Amino acid sequence: MGVLAGKHALVTGGGTGVGAAIALALVAEGAVVTISGRRQAPLDETAAQSDAITAIVADVTDETSVTALYSQARAVHGPVDIVVANAGAAESAPFGKIDQGHWQRMLDVNLTGVFLTLQAALPDMLQKGWGRMISVASTAGLKGYPYVAAYCAAKHGVVGLTKALAMETAQKGITVNALCPGFIDTPLLDKSVQTIMDKTGRTADEARTALAASNPQGRLIQPREVADTAVWLCSKGAGSVTGQSISISGGEV
Ligand code: NAP
Repeated sequence: MGVLAGKHALVTGGGTGVGAAIALALVAEGAVVTISGRRQAPLDETAAQSDAITAIVADVTDETSVTALYSQARAVHGPVDIVVANAGAAESAPFGKIDQGHWQRMLDVNLTGVFLTLQAALPDMLQKGWGRMISVASTAGLKGYPYVAAYCAAKHGVVGLTKALAMETAQKGITVNALCPGFIDTPLLDKSVQTIMDKTGRTADEARTALAASNPQGRLIQPREVADTAVWLCSKGAGSVTGQSISISGGEV
């Protein structure tokens, strides 16, 4: 029996990339998992890989949608023990060209989405006196990169939220941590590669090599590496780890 048997985990953005890898890794440790995202098709594809996964369409930027997600998830699997606020998106533009729409979209999905997702999980965890809150931030929450000021601001916000909420919940059996990966091989990275190709005329291979070069290990992070860290944070051995923003970046930061 896995170390997370009997636990209900909710993973936003769980249909693709890092979120799907985290959902499957939690299932492998015995948890039942609710995954969510805006598109049904990728959610169904991931849920088809295990009977322990339930897919529910929801938009993390919309409070009503997040509330509905939690009530549906609780109706299927009971109170939420573990939440992984993973849904996110990255848009790039030079700072002078960021309009308010771009700025707001990045804050909405990457910061407000995390706030709404974690806040909705809190009552269940307080009731049980046990909980694990994990956000997928980024190395962009720990350092700056050019052309992604709004994304960086939002991810730094997640790091701050993590520290504050960890202090509020420290004596309640709840830990709150952020994962800060470098460039990961996922659909989100494919979009960045396409942008580099469009703007610079580089090939896809050249663009991927350029992104991998920011990692001192000279490679892209694999989703499974982020998932394994999430599983560890849910394990007994990580009970005293809270308020941390853990770099998973081959030493980049
Ligand atoms: P991804 O495959 O594009 O995953 C993003 C997920 O978020 C998708 O499943 C997407 O599903 C969901 N999502 C986006 N907007 C949403 C919304 N408004 N409501 C609900 N779900 C939404 O890319 P990924 O790389 O796995 O990204 C996962 C997390 O890792 C993100 O927070 C990202 O910022 C972070 N990260 C990625 C990298 C990287 O290099 N890939 C590096 C560091 C951190 P729908 O489109 O169906 O909603």
